[in-house]
Amino acid sequence: MTKDQILDIDRRHLWHPCTQQKDHELQPPIPIARGEGSWLVDVDGRRYIDGVSSWWVNLFGHNHPRLNRALQQQAERIAHHIFAGFTHEPAAELAQRLVALAPGNLNRVFLADNGSAAVEVALKMSFQYWQQSGRPDKIRFVSLTEAYHGETVGALSVGGCDLYRDIYRPMLLDTFQAQGPDCFRCPYGLSRDRCDAPCFEHLERLVAERHREIAAVIVEPLIQGAAGMRIYPPVYLRKLRQLCDTWQVHYIADEIAVGFGRTGKLFANEHAGVGPDLLCLSKGITGGYLPLSAVLATEDIYQAFYDDYATLRAFLHSHSYTGNPLACALAVEVQKIFAEEPILADLAPRTALLDAWAERFRQHPRVGEFRRCGLVAAVELVARQEGKIPFPWQERKGYAIYRRALEKGALLRPLGNVIYFMPALNIPLDTLDQLLDIAWQAMVEELGGA
Ligand code: PMP
Repeated sequence: MTKDQILDIDRRHLWHPCTQQKDHELQPPIPIARGEGSWLVDVDGRRYIDGVSSWWVNLFGHNHPRLNRALQQQAERIAHHIFAGFTHEPAAELAQRLVALAPGNLNRVFLADNGSAAVEVALKMSFQYWQQSGRPDKIRFVSLTEAYHGETVGALSVGGCDLYRDIYRPMLLDTFQAQGPDCFRCPYGLSRDRCDAPCFEHLERLVAERHREIAAVIVEPLIQGAAGMRIYPPVYLRKLRQLCDTWQVHYIADEIAVGFGRTGKLFANEHAGVGPDLLCLSKGITGGYLPLSAVLATEDIYQAFYDDYATLRAFLHSHSYTGNPLACALAVEVQKIFAEEPILADLAPRTALLDAWAERFRQHPRVGEFRRCGLVAAVELVARQEGKIPFPWQERKGYAIYRRALEKGALLRPLGNVIYFMPALNIPLDTLDQLLDIAWQAMVEELGGA
């Protein structure tokens, strides 16, 4: 097909995710022909630095020789088979590796096929655990304001981003929402590097009052991603672990976005030295090649489901593509790459480069904050620094910067007024520098004030 044919059919028949399709009148989707490391290449040969790892999934770059080989080798054996009553080596090896590496005492791995599905699984596991453990009143979930856990109805119910959620409110679960951390506009006037997370008081109070009804608290550890890469300190997670222990409530860690090295450690919970009761993983798990997710559970949770069939205690959740062998083979290869290559150690020069650029961004009169955790960095734009006044969302500053950056050869996908960077962990230094330079230029062109 020619480029025009692709675009014509796309315009007539496709419906893209998280998109007002009418925007495509102004900015048609870009047909991609191939990928090369941190670059996407379109059908005309134009190149774009993938500054957001293609929605935070790509870990080691596109078209990666080791991952390509792992995929091909598995495809030549079998692409997929039913995972109920059957098993396979890649799933076994993946489970063994994840259990060995995961924070805390997680011993069981349940496989699903996307992040939202993992969140649904974790919520259902927690719910059913309490039903089967003599605590049938524990049926409600707690999440934080500005949380994002996916778009399916259960996952959306524990979300806190109104943009994605408001219209569906009448069909969502009845959950509790606690005021979460807001380090950029800290109501206590503190700095995230030095504080003791007094903002935890909201969650603390809620759980202390309502623990009899609460099955679990779910959070995105250290970075609330979709809300604009809102970074908060590890002490919050330490307090959360303690709180959940005190009141017998599960701690569900949604590391779908932050897992697999993004924060500088393999898992974000490691920064706090704690482990959850249920851990949701996806996105980078296959290096960004195929959909796969995993929910890791403690042996205690698992045992509440283990009994004679007639007790009807089994976890009867399933997806057709559960345990897909191609995806599992890729996930095993991702873990081998982490084990054999100095991916995490080599983040240091990359984070140093981000920190050097941070100095420059912070000088700009429309930058309210440049924040970073591991290789995730965000520039929060403000209409006025004094008072941290945001640009009205209707002005779509982020979208305008997105379009300018595309012209210059970089894929940024700002979240409202936040430009962020979540590149592949092994992005070459010169490419990262180029990405930051393009973001800077796009921002200055749109907002002035260099
Ligand atoms: N949880 C978090 C923290 C996420 O960032 C996302 C995706 N952005 C999800 C869950 C949902 O994952 P998926 O898009 O694969 O359903």
